[in-house]
Amino acid sequence: MTSVVIEEIPDRVTLAVDISNCQGNCEGCHSPFLRMDVGEELTKEVIDSLIENNYGVNCFLFLGEGNDLKALLGLAEHVRSIGLKVALYSGRQEVEDEIYRAFDYVKVGPYMAKFGPLNESTTNQRLYSISHEGESFTKTDITSRFWHRGIDPNASH
Ligand code: SF4
Repeated sequence: MTSVVIEEIPDRVTLAVDISNCQGNCEGCHSPFLRMDVGEELTKEVIDSLIENNYGVNCFLFLGEGNDLKALLGLAEHVRSIGLKVALYSGRQEVEDEIYRAFDYVKVGPYMAKFGPLNESTTNQRLYSISHEGESFTKTDITSRFWHRGIDPNASH
């Protein structure tokens, strides 16, 4: 499933795509079907066509990371090569450095109902903006940008 969203990544018009084969185990998972192998395979060609059909988006968000890291990194590189920012909502507590190198925004942390989603200041989840210089990267925690405003509470991967 895809949708154009303006809240999930601050200051970006974002095309968000649900990724199946989720390896997460969030308590109260809102999309159990995403733990299965469902939907169309996301390829570079599919990404090109989604972007063509959603004129004006400047960020591509993977809602979930699937179960093939190499493929995910290849798709992230492709999105960047066509000039868009690339973002990932991971359900894991932490991700590999190679993910931070490949993405401009990374959300980490499983959804935990008792701490609330990203737009609550009690949330355990964190959204980082990543700046890159060669192989090094710097993470800036921008989670507080969500507080005092709405966000789709279902976007809790
Ligand atoms: S990351 Fe998303 S799809 Fe995966 S278990 Fe958590 S809420 Fe469900």
